[in-house]
Amino acid sequence: MTRIASVKARAFSAPLKHPLWTAHEELHSSSVVLVEVSTDDGLTGIGQVHGAPMKLVCQYVEKLGEVARGMDATAQVPVWEKLMALTSPRPTGMGGRDGLPQPLPRGDRPQIMAAIGGIDSALWDIKGKALGVPVWKLLGGEGKPLFTYATGGYYELDAPLHACAAELEGFVKRGYRAVKLKTAGLSIEKEVERIKATRAAIGNDVLLMLDMNAAYDLEECIRFAHAVEPYGIYWLEEPLHWYLQPADFAVLARNTPIPLAHGEREMTRFTARDFITSGALGFMQFDSTRFAGFTESLRVSHLAEQHGVRIAPHLVPEVHAHLVSAFPRLGFGVESHGGPERDPLWFEMFTERAQVRDGQVHLNDRPGFGFDIDWKAMEKYRV
Ligand SMILES: [Mg+2]
Repeated sequence: MTRIASVKARAFSAPLKHPLWTAHEELHSSSVVLVEVSTDDGLTGIGQVHGAPMKLVCQYVEKLGEVARGMDATAQVPVWEKLMALTSPRPTGMGGRDGLPQPLPRGDRPQIMAAIGGIDSALWDIKGKALGVPVWKLLGGEGKPLFTYATGGYYELDAPLHACAAELEGFVKRGYRAVKLKTAGLSIEKEVERIKATRAAIGNDVLLMLDMNAAYDLEECIRFAHAVEPYGIYWLEEPLHWYLQPADFAVLARNTPIPLAHGEREMTRFTARDFITSGALGFMQFDSTRFAGFTESLRVSHLAEQHGVRIAPHLVPEVHAHLVSAFPRLGFGVESHGGPERDPLWFEMFTERAQVRDGQVHLNDRPGFGFDIDWKAMEKYRV
């Protein structure tokens, strides 16, 4: 048996050239926590985590790693279940009398779910390496090139209103057939101007999605949706405020013909389920590098497929393309970066990975997720 021997977490952060805004927040850097799981027979798997604060995520990775140590490294599900069980009370849990950490604090759930996800994804990488096959092959996929789209139009506070149009046109010139615009940071009238200019720049044959970062209440969102309908919008992503729920998304869906996309903020398959079964979504965007890992995103994807919801995972194409390859019927594709402005780290951190070109992700035949970290290049970004 291949057993988990050690679990390490390291945090990295690269500054952006210019601070960027989504409708919700200012971004100064691109960051990642790399979870390295080693086995007693010399295998190493890497899990990527996008979560904050990174120091707390790293602490949970190492704490949970101690619990997972000695378990079968190729049996992701029992490891996942054991770690997840630590988030709830158990009869022998008070004071940690059963030798496990006491039930983990409720306030740290996002960081705990991120840590579970990092360990879980590293185990998928190990499993592929142990069997000598890529993850896409483990899942029954074909490894064919997969559709990808590029996201841009982040706000720079002193940039001209229409700067997004040239940026997204640049993605199209690089071969993308679908682009996503950050929106909802300004008034609806100003946003319509940005969207109109972007549509004119990219032409009518390119898919255009809008990422709203949860900017609207229901009523205002319906007004926004009607205002942007003439521009051939492929989906509205995270349209509603964070506290609004599937019932609210269902009302929105009844009031616009534009499909809705959601999922990157969901921490488990159980909340994702309620969005999927509500009938409100056209696209599910669960992110295995934010919460709960690759095992959970596979569970979410199976349910989505059964409800006719297309699978469009949030970023990290070198990992999520493996997932989408297993859903030839309803796998839409993965998100990628059109250029290094938003995520310089991603362009520097690998010596090897799936390649993104011509609007497609090209998976490789290497075992596991098929990427290797350039630890030397990353050293200068260590935090
Ligand atoms: Mg988004």
